[in-house]
Amino acid sequence: MRFATHLEATSDGTTFALDSLQTCHDGQPIAVRYDLRALAANVERDALRRRPPGMWRYRELLPHASDAEVVSLGENATPLLPCPRLGARLGLSRLLIKDESTLPTGSFKARGMAMAITRAKALGVTHVATPTAGNAGGALAAYAARAGLRCTVLMPADTPLVNQREVHWYGARAFAVDGLIHECGAIVRQGAERGLWFDMSTMKEPYRLEGKKTMGLELADQLGWRLPDAIFYPTGGGTGLVGMHKAFAELRELGWLDPAAPLPRLFACQASGCAPVVTAFENGSPTAELVPDATTAAAGLRVPKPFADRMILTALRESGGAALAAPEAELSGWVGHAMRDEGIALCPEAAACLVGARQALARGLIAAGDEIVVFNTGAAQKYVEFLAAELPRLDRAAPDWVRLAGADDGPATR
Ligand SMILES: *Cc1c(COP(=O)(O)O)cnc(C)c1O
Repeated sequence: MRFATHLEATSDGTTFALDSLQTCHDGQPIAVRYDLRALAANVERDALRRRPPGMWRYRELLPHASDAEVVSLGENATPLLPCPRLGARLGLSRLLIKDESTLPTGSFKARGMAMAITRAKALGVTHVATPTAGNAGGALAAYAARAGLRCTVLMPADTPLVNQREVHWYGARAFAVDGLIHECGAIVRQGAERGLWFDMSTMKEPYRLEGKKTMGLELADQLGWRLPDAIFYPTGGGTGLVGMHKAFAELRELGWLDPAAPLPRLFACQASGCAPVVTAFENGSPTAELVPDATTAAAGLRVPKPFADRMILTALRESGGAALAAPEAELSGWVGHAMRDEGIALCPEAAACLVGARQALARGLIAAGDEIVVFNTGAAQKYVEFLAAELPRLDRAAPDWVRLAGADDGPATR
């Protein structure tokens, strides 16, 4: 049974039929709306837990018409990992990392693209295109391949190598552009206006947001229909943050959360070389200004002016959170801490969240005993240039190889 009822423009509330193919309206995103009253009357939240884990468990809060429609690569529920050693390093006693790097294609982009491709295919799209700063291209190319759709991806020429190669090998037509993501986006928009392809850019169609919303639904489910005190989210285009904000609002309206418990404070974490949301937040502005010459190794954060800036800033302010900028020089150190302290393959984008959590603690925006969730949005393994390392050579014929290898640093068993 489907509880999605219609699509609604976020600018002026104009409505559109649920099964019509839409992009945006008045230059602003369009959102999927549900009959939450009917959903609450017909679905028990704990019944969801008897279904297989993963994003499709929440199907009544998603817009597709039937299970048969779903284009899937086996989207798993991602682990929510307590991080005591990393937390102690930050001065936080209850730090959890939600590790989205375990999803198909190695990033949370899989959630959005699985949903968007599911709908695009059902609504008759045959060719999809997107600009990308990193992982969105790979995820779109993979799901387009799975669905049998044609795919075109445009990315800055200095996008991480793995992101460039994966798109090619998933069979998309991929181009390296001498510009940033918004300049790639302008080409995709022109192609869409000419009818060459359907524009799957962040927030320019209504369904990626619904897929990303499942991060928030799954978090609540994993915590026993409860939410943490604060969430630190690496924010580029903002769908993850806005999606979770929408998820929490829907869960609360459904009566699935304790109405007396406050919703989590949302913190948008960016890198100092590209922090348009931080600047806008600090200036009290409703929209962001384009950052010229945006640079950061955290590729997913290199979005000089997010299209959904209004929605991001509203989510931050409504939740009582903030936007925080991590100095670029601190990112690699925190990737290393997370990998060595906890064994979690943290992406540089998520490293910005650890820096942000430290800043928030120092500024009194969070307390040492708060329950804090950091989203690891992607896999460290996709950043081979950034996480370069040279291994020392070991000559297997050398008589003193044991000493050279440092293998004699203590007994091997307790
Ligand atoms: C895309 C991406 C982000 C930014 O996500 P938004 O939801 O667009 O703000 C963060 N981290 C990684 C690894 C990404 O690929």
